[in-house]
Amino acid sequence: MGAREVRLRIAHLFPELLNLYGDTGNVLVLRKRLEWRGIACDVREVHVGERPSFSDVDIVFIGGGSDREQRVVCEYLLEERKELVSYVGDGGVLLAVCGGYQLLGHSYLMGDEEVQGLSLVDLYTDRGSPRLIGNVVVQSRISPQPIVGYENHGGRTHLGDGVEPLGSVVHGFGNDGLSGYEGCLYRNVVGTYVHGPLLPKNPGVADWLIARALERRYGDDAVGRLLVPLDDAEELEANRVMRERLT
Ligand code: GLN
Repeated sequence: MGAREVRLRIAHLFPELLNLYGDTGNVLVLRKRLEWRGIACDVREVHVGERPSFSDVDIVFIGGGSDREQRVVCEYLLEERKELVSYVGDGGVLLAVCGGYQLLGHSYLMGDEEVQGLSLVDLYTDRGSPRLIGNVVVQSRISPQPIVGYENHGGRTHLGDGVEPLGSVVHGFGNDGLSGYEGCLYRNVVGTYVHGPLLPKNPGVADWLIARALERRYGDDAVGRLLVPLDDAEELEANRVMRERLT
């Protein structure tokens, strides 16, 4: 009998609605970094109106969107809340960017109206003026290199006491422009305002997500066996150029 095939499944939620600033590129990066290592990868797109199951999923991705699009998907996502709560509780990997990040929390203030979020992570988002726009650099424990990218949000996200930020802002605004923190890290959930897309110039973040998914699916020794190093010279050069330009 041949060796057991190694395969990870990615669920990409609402790709046609939540895809600001190339967020879908994050899924392409995850897929390529798996395939380059000989790991099979299925990407399942979840569209509005579908009732996805997360029981065999290894990585969930939610991108960013305008307020209008966020409202549409939020109504559908609330119906999947129970599934998502057990997925996250079971150590499922989830990456959510900007609008998707805001939906992870208890609430999101849209104009004067408070929209209910998924309450997957203890955080909430209100609004401020002006919008927080520009390039961003973040120091995070999950990435050997500082994370670089682009942010554009009116929302201000506030983390609950027990929630770790994804990292500290070196350049840019982050969660609210005041706290000095960017994003959230809760179990295997990463929420962030960083578009760009995030993963092409931040291979350390991509591999952190893949590592957590491999551990969960294939056991503690899977990372050592399967997460073979890749030649990231171009990715790291792109990261370095942005960092040097900004800091
Ligand atoms: N609509 C949200 C905001 O403006 C998120 C925008 C985004 O995903 N870039 O805060």
